[in-house]
Amino acid sequence: MQFKFHMPTRAFFGTGCLSQNSGEIAALGRKALIVTGGRSARESGALNDICNELSALSIEYSIFDKVENNPSTDTVKKGGAEAKRIGADFIIGIGGGSPLDASKAVAVLAVNDMDPVDLFTNQFAKRPLPVIAIPTTAGTGSEVTPYSILTRNDLETKVSFGNPQTFPVLAFLDPRYTESQPLEVTVNTAVDAFSHCLEGYLGKRRTPASDILAQEGILLFGRSLESLKAGEISYEDRENLLYMSMLGGMVISHTGTTIVHGAGYNLTYFKGIPHGKANGFLMTEYLRFNYDYAKDRIDNVLKLLGMDGLDDFGAAMLQLLGEAPCLEEEEIRKYAAITMTQRSTATNVRPVAVTDIADILRRI
Ligand code: NAP
Ligand code: ZN
Repeated sequence: MQFKFHMPTRAFFGTGCLSQNSGEIAALGRKALIVTGGRSARESGALNDICNELSALSIEYSIFDKVENNPSTDTVKKGGAEAKRIGADFIIGIGGGSPLDASKAVAVLAVNDMDPVDLFTNQFAKRPLPVIAIPTTAGTGSEVTPYSILTRNDLETKVSFGNPQTFPVLAFLDPRYTESQPLEVTVNTAVDAFSHCLEGYLGKRRTPASDILAQEGILLFGRSLESLKAGEISYEDRENLLYMSMLGGMVISHTGTTIVHGAGYNLTYFKGIPHGKANGFLMTEYLRFNYDYAKDRIDNVLKLLGMDGLDDFGAAMLQLLGEAPCLEEEEIRKYAAITMTQRSTATNVRPVAVTDIADILRRI
């Protein structure tokens, strides 16, 4: 048995966890840049709460609320310039994965004179500013991962960077901040979190410790599945889903993802399909493709979810997400080729050829 376990984020979970632990923020400096999107921080109530805490601590702040879904390298460049301009000591990311990922890139660019494209080298001359992450979706687990996933228009896909220095130093996970999500965002992001647990549990980089976290996350997804299908999400479900999402983040921090994420980025980049939904469209065929290589594990996943077989699983995904879009043959070939360039593809438990990805895309 040989593995590494590294989880440097101090994560606080629960209703009111930000105000109960705001003293943690004071040590990070006197000036903060809040990085967020157009609505999540305000609608969730998280922006109001953090501004109150910052004022009480006499910490000055500015707000950069220009982060779009699937943030681009151009956006994080602007955020980095803003952090530099105000002389920020630390960055506060509030939102779904898009603002949280952007905040990590802004933290690097605030102190390093580099082209955003060089972020992907993971070599930073100066240590990035500390990041506080406050999630408003229960999906990416970005609050406890080092990853920042940015859209690369030059490569026509999404690419991640991250090293041990880009883990957020603090995370405040308050399920109340996820209550204002539209139902579709709740469902899509829950499927994303489940995908992190599933791919981590089946992927080649799994460890005994990540397996424990992944299995718990899978069990929790099963527990809220009926609520997600019915579109009736209780506060207990919110807690459950946010906890699952955090566990999923801890899993992929150690295992990375696999072909679900690698192929799903195409559906997001070219078809505008939200990240979690794109993963969900691929999941049943991913399980069928890998079944003979991970039979015991996939059977255990189905057992944890309380399902009888892969047909049952496919029906649940269809009910949650609807039909995947129909792709042209030319699109299938292009997406399959791009998927093969993703590092995560090599982590899949079954060796993958470009024709395998094309077959999966044809089947979905
Ligand atoms: P998102 O793109 O951050 O947000 C989706 C939409 O939901 C946005 O319009 C957002 O508003 C809105 N929203 C979020 N929370 C809300 C709330 N509480 N109330 C009302 N509206 C809310 O979605 P996401 O699925 O969480 O993140 C996806 C991104 O994360 C992708 O770029 C993906 O590649 C990345 N990702 C990162 C990791 C990682 O480890 N770092 C892992 C998986 C995925 P705003 O316009 O205000 O943002
Ligand atoms: Zn994901």
